[in-house]
Amino acid sequence: MLRAVFLRAVVVISGCGLSALGLGSWELGLGPWALGPSALISAQEPAPTEQKPPPQASTLGPPTRADVLRGAYGRYRANNDLLFYHLDVRVDPERKSIAGTNTIRFRMLADDTRIQLELAANLSVDRILFGAAPLRYERDLNTVYVDFPSTLRAGRDYTIAFHYSGTPQEQGRFGGMTFGKDPAGRHWITTSCEDHGASVWWPNKDQWRDEVERMQISVAIPNDLVDISNGRFMGKTDLGDGYTRWDWLVQYPINNYNVALNIGRYEHFADRLGDLPLDFYVLPENLDKARKQFAQVSPMLDAFQKYFGEYPFAKDGYKLVEVPYAGMEHQSAVAYGNRFANGYLERDFAGVGTSLKFDFIIIHESGHEWFGNAISAADVSDMWIHEGWTTYLESLYVEDRFGRDEAIRYVNGYKSKVQNSEPIITQRGIHREPMQDMYFKGALFLNTLRSVVNDDAVWRGALRDFYQEFKHRNILTEDVVRYFNTRLKRDLTPVFDQYLRRAELPILELAFNERDGLMSYRWKAGERAFAMPVRVGTAGTWTILEPTTDWQTMPMAIPKAAIEVATDLYYVEVRKL
Ligand SMILES: [Zn+2]
Repeated sequence: MLRAVFLRAVVVISGCGLSALGLGSWELGLGPWALGPSALISAQEPAPTEQKPPPQASTLGPPTRADVLRGAYGRYRANNDLLFYHLDVRVDPERKSIAGTNTIRFRMLADDTRIQLELAANLSVDRILFGAAPLRYERDLNTVYVDFPSTLRAGRDYTIAFHYSGTPQEQGRFGGMTFGKDPAGRHWITTSCEDHGASVWWPNKDQWRDEVERMQISVAIPNDLVDISNGRFMGKTDLGDGYTRWDWLVQYPINNYNVALNIGRYEHFADRLGDLPLDFYVLPENLDKARKQFAQVSPMLDAFQKYFGEYPFAKDGYKLVEVPYAGMEHQSAVAYGNRFANGYLERDFAGVGTSLKFDFIIIHESGHEWFGNAISAADVSDMWIHEGWTTYLESLYVEDRFGRDEAIRYVNGYKSKVQNSEPIITQRGIHREPMQDMYFKGALFLNTLRSVVNDDAVWRGALRDFYQEFKHRNILTEDVVRYFNTRLKRDLTPVFDQYLRRAELPILELAFNERDGLMSYRWKAGERAFAMPVRVGTAGTWTILEPTTDWQTMPMAIPKAAIEVATDLYYVEVRKL
């Protein structure tokens, strides 16, 4: 996902590679949503420039009851493991309604009589069947506790059929589920629900830790429409009543929020990258533009495969599907709404010119196939594993296409978007998305880590093996830290903690005694054990210091005014005393 991003006042710092973006308004993540869902079809209009963004909710305040219900991985979630969903729905565009069943197979991990599922409070639970027997259930906000008449046994598999219906309420930045029209007035119904959760439109175990292993998606829609969902297309069946059912099979674990309906009058064209089928679905009017713009897909996939290994969902193929919002990483069916133009909604997102050389949504949202979809965070608190990593993947793509220097300029262009006001990692067990720093500070932190490693071959190997180790798994930051500590044979825990669990950047303090030709240095950082190498001196003749939070002193021939720190390689503050 790329969420709403807003900028602090941008200061032009010449010589640091930064340039003024001049965007004091809605940043690009909002796109047409800034106008409200009713304005969807005017997505080609420029975003408004006068409105101020809403202040981003703090992640430090007390949670709501809904935050806790949704975020806690309590007994009735932990007692089972999802195996298979068959989501079988009928979508009525005229009534703006959905009705159907999610058949849920799960394995009990402990003996128990109750499990916890979710369905938005405004949708009806029609019945929940266990075989032919209806089950009792209890609703609490969006939570549905399902009760069984006798104890389910650990180690055994069970199946229930959750029947539901209603009109999903449009909500969140991306609408949840929206019943819109395309510019030609045809039905265009899409889902995008990472923020509010998939249970805004279908019943599931709506949390991040437990991904279902595989999933079938069956969508009945009027005959003249097309549904593109995740996974491999298995065929369509004319139901004889004016509706056709489209069947898709997801053959890998998938986050609930990635499950998508894209219903419209799509046209299709296809390509291949080696054995990987590439399928593209756009509105008829946009075919020519799409054929041209989507030529960026193969080199993008090539670049990421070179860094990390095979595209993670090969059996399901790669799809790019036009949507009325900016974009979303829907697994194997990436949502695209970037106007068939380079940049991010035609803007220079990183502010250094590079963004206009590629289609931001193609690169960013597809990068999520590796980080977000294949490697997934097990708790929303650790969402930087999706967004920080994928933002860093953008810079790897830039490096592959345009070289290292441009990649460094690109990632540093994001500094202007960082606030350093709250930690990136939020409290576990409360469903609250971290601040936007998880994107840009996350990427700048990984760029910093590369400089700590200071050996590109080692860094590239570590990235690839990290991905290979954790692909198709749900992990926490602790797993990331453990991996890199072991792999790099260095205790980087205080470095990870300083960047991810604290708001403020580490400050390199440099104190000069020019009469005696001495310089003292230390890190000023909240983490007492913070220790990180850094390049100091003058460009081209750097000395690598190994500061800790204790003072060290060294001879220094370069005068105070001329001393530089390689702040494009390390995201730090520098204070000359
Ligand atoms: Zn993203």
